[in-house]
Amino acid sequence: MSVPDSRQAAVELDRGDPLAAMRDLFALPGELIYLDGNSLGPLPHATVGAVHRTLREEWGESLIGSWNEHGWIDLPHRLGDLLAPVIGAGPGQVVVADSTSVNLYKLLWAALELRPDRASVITEEGNFPTDCYLATAAARAHGRALEVVPRHELEARLDDRVAALVLTHVDFRSGEMHDMAALTARAHDAGALVIWDLAHSAGAVPLALDRWGVDMAVGCTYKYLNGGPGAPAFAYVAQRHHHHLSTPLPGWMGHANPFAMAPAYEPAAGVARLLCGTPPILSLAAVEPGLATVSSAGVERLRAKSVALSELLIGLVERRCTGLGLDLASPRDSARRGSQVSFRHPHAYAVCQALIAAGVVGDFREPDILRLGLAPLYLRFVDIWDAVERLREILTERTWDDPRFTVRARVT
Ligand SMILES: *Cc1c(COP(=O)(O)O)cnc(C)c1O
Repeated sequence: MSVPDSRQAAVELDRGDPLAAMRDLFALPGELIYLDGNSLGPLPHATVGAVHRTLREEWGESLIGSWNEHGWIDLPHRLGDLLAPVIGAGPGQVVVADSTSVNLYKLLWAALELRPDRASVITEEGNFPTDCYLATAAARAHGRALEVVPRHELEARLDDRVAALVLTHVDFRSGEMHDMAALTARAHDAGALVIWDLAHSAGAVPLALDRWGVDMAVGCTYKYLNGGPGAPAFAYVAQRHHHHLSTPLPGWMGHANPFAMAPAYEPAAGVARLLCGTPPILSLAAVEPGLATVSSAGVERLRAKSVALSELLIGLVERRCTGLGLDLASPRDSARRGSQVSFRHPHAYAVCQALIAAGVVGDFREPDILRLGLAPLYLRFVDIWDAVERLREILTERTWDDPRFTVRARVT
């Protein structure tokens, strides 16, 4: 794609966009340009009705009967099966429950049970903090050690001492994307299991977990899947591991027969044993409409537009923001990049705040990263044009250099 040289040319790109109509499915306030759908996706209009129905018609009218009548009890599995095709998984291997953090702990703990004679867990430097904290804790609970390795040494470190490799597919800072198929195969050659964190992949890049032989995976539903703030996460476990799958949190909802109220724990079949306590029905109800929009758009089409948006953003910044202190922190090659583009700037925090004040919402990540998420369901090419123009103005006029843009909020 050649980079348009006018706003009008960007508008033309929107006219030819097969996904253009999807934007109307979302609540996007006023003129806001939302480049933070990789942190919290926007509200799908249909979610309002879905949650309202769950409240008034289900909880309000059927009360406890809803567990059976409205199928609440199966919701974690129904949503799991709806999500499965988005990550390239067959049915019966995905469950929606708990948070990504909690699921990562459960799965790594289970993976370590499957590799009792191996001493270490490997992850990479700069992995998302919660993954590192929980991998440390799960490894310790099993008397193993977490080894944190630079990215370029990962493959060389996979040997017969390694029980599991825990990686985030798309790096949360740089957007750099691992070759999941190749690394999974490499880990298997060494006899290790692989757990992938798909927080920045699910709904944004095509995945083929079954075909690539992935063992286990976790991910969020509130980022590119637009499930709402704190929406329950998902966990994937390949069918071949179901029989020996264990959990560190054997709660009653993961019991073979919860309402037998039996004195001893007996695991439910398959991924159902990953459930622990009562599922959060209102939050689960909010997940479905967002998932449905991603499914109907199709991940391949979403990816094609995401690449086009990213190329446009990088191309425009290269052309219109030269000499203004921005350095591309993401891979230039779109095949190695997820659905975000990050730039380094010595005053990235203030620049990000000034951008937000100018109606362009991105986010800041320590120490100097301005991170722009490109969610293809609702972003227009002209939004990228406008965002870059505002960024250019902020940098040329130094509007970021103002005390009101340097005070750190609690959430950044
Ligand atoms: C967003 C994100 C998480 C979030 O985990 P929660 O348990 O939902 O807070 C985990 N891992 C990665 C890589 C993320 O980007």
